[in-house]
Amino acid sequence: MARIDRSTRSTRAHSDRQPPKDAMLRGSLIELRRRCGKAGCHCQQGEPHTTPALSYSQKGKTRIVTLSAKDVPRVRAGLKRYQQALRGLEKGALRGIEALKRSLQREKEQARRASS
Ligand SMILES: [Zn+2]
Repeated sequence: MARIDRSTRSTRAHSDRQPPKDAMLRGSLIELRRRCGKAGCHCQQGEPHTTPALSYSQKGKTRIVTLSAKDVPRVRAGLKRYQQALRGLEKGALRGIEALKRSLQREKEQARRASS
């Protein structure tokens, strides 16, 4: 096996903190809005501060992961991958049902032929 020296290992540990490039994400991108409460801040009168966030549910609870603007593209990509994977599963499941129906039909015809 290849030896992993100290510098390679620390690089790896660092990159492990990032989600993999092809990670799937479930939930939706939302915008958190808040007023910071600081005197004289524009948010007191006008637009509140906004923070992008990922909202998802787990065990019936809604959870929030706050993001920064630079995280939005990869979160959006992860959500898209999940939707694509879901559509793939759905298609596969429907193909499975069609195959089951065909096979049941064939068995029925074989039984009919055998009995006549
Ligand atoms: Zn403010």
